[in-house]
Amino acid sequence: MLSVAEARQRILAHFQPTATETIPLIASFRRVLASEMAATHDLPPFDNSSMDGFAIRAEDSNAAPLTLSVVADIPAGSTPKALLAPGQAARIMTGAPMPQGANAVVPVEDTDFNSREAGAPAPQNVSFNRKVTAGENVRPQGMDVRAGETILQKGCTLKAQDLGLLASLGVSQVPVHKKPRVALLSSGNELTPIDQPLESGKIYDANTYLLAALLENAGAEVLRLGVAQDTRESVSELFEKAVAEKADLILSSAGVSVGAFDYVKEVIELQGNLDFWRVNMRPGKPLAFGRYRGINFIGLPGNPVSAFVGFTLFVREALRALSGCSDGSQLKVKVRSVEEIESDGRESYLRVKLREENGHFWATPSGHQGSANLLALTQADALLIIPAGVKCVPAGQEVEAILL
Ligand code: AMP
Ligand code: MG
Repeated sequence: MLSVAEARQRILAHFQPTATETIPLIASFRRVLASEMAATHDLPPFDNSSMDGFAIRAEDSNAAPLTLSVVADIPAGSTPKALLAPGQAARIMTGAPMPQGANAVVPVEDTDFNSREAGAPAPQNVSFNRKVTAGENVRPQGMDVRAGETILQKGCTLKAQDLGLLASLGVSQVPVHKKPRVALLSSGNELTPIDQPLESGKIYDANTYLLAALLENAGAEVLRLGVAQDTRESVSELFEKAVAEKADLILSSAGVSVGAFDYVKEVIELQGNLDFWRVNMRPGKPLAFGRYRGINFIGLPGNPVSAFVGFTLFVREALRALSGCSDGSQLKVKVRSVEEIESDGRESYLRVKLREENGHFWATPSGHQGSANLLALTQADALLIIPAGVKCVPAGQEVEAILL
């Protein structure tokens, strides 16, 4: 049986980044940048004041205490015309351009003029009694970014602060990778839509909601195909819908183990090919990968916790490859188990709560570890990894965990 690492490698070999498109900056939050971005101009674009105060020639303050005559008033957004001569000052606001001749700003609170009310006119003279160094309270042009400098790398997922930076450079259109289109289906005669009463022997379809949320979080466009019944025809019908919708990936849950009613595997084999359908892991051994009429297919196990773990280990990575994403790889931390944990030798992913003590993370199982037990998953901070071949992790031993 394939190891987790081999299975991941086999899957990733089949995914290429989607095509690119140019979209308005406002729509680009969390999208993956398709080309490197360079600054079109300096930031800040001009020397400006970082304080409300008085622009002066710093040399004048060698004679402190002193009085300067105020020859101009420079609000933010204006273009100063004054050229400051020795002995002169200009009232200036935060963000306003420095007048020519000035090289420093004395904050208003360090002067005898401390009227900061809106509409207060500038005084005729201003006095202060300290030395001011050249450059004090001035934000020089290009201090943050130089024209031509690379500001964002290709493949980064655009964060709020990236949008702010692009906006300050006047970038209104952004090249990004198209969102991967993922056709999502659940399968099983027992599955009931959540808005209907639960009949005997049935359960609600949890995976559609769990997986759609994970897909959206990973930047995919989700095409919800609903639930396939346990018949060849019903499964085929939904797979055909995925083809018609031009999905980049078909993601299903359940129906890929060895049960008498597991048709998903069979339908894939009829219209495509199956690379593998089992991975040596726990939870989540029945995990299938292949292609249906040329479209990549990942079949997750039906049990919700297994589906979650399979998504985290494989689908999330496939979506990163599909969206051209080069950041956001899964964060792993070293943790120590509070209690001894037994394992069956398969690579195992335990749901644990973490507590930090003296610089170490201590892990305790967050509840029942069965692959259908969603409650323990909702209460988990991390998935603790027991490597393949390990049958016992003694208390206090350090192992890796994936932060959720
Ligand atoms: P299967 O792989 O079809 O044998 O399903 C394995 C287990 O997962 C069974 O107990 C199913 O009832 C359960 N299961 C399958 N699909 C879902 C779903 N969408 N939501 C919740 N449980 C599911
Ligand atoms: Mg089933």
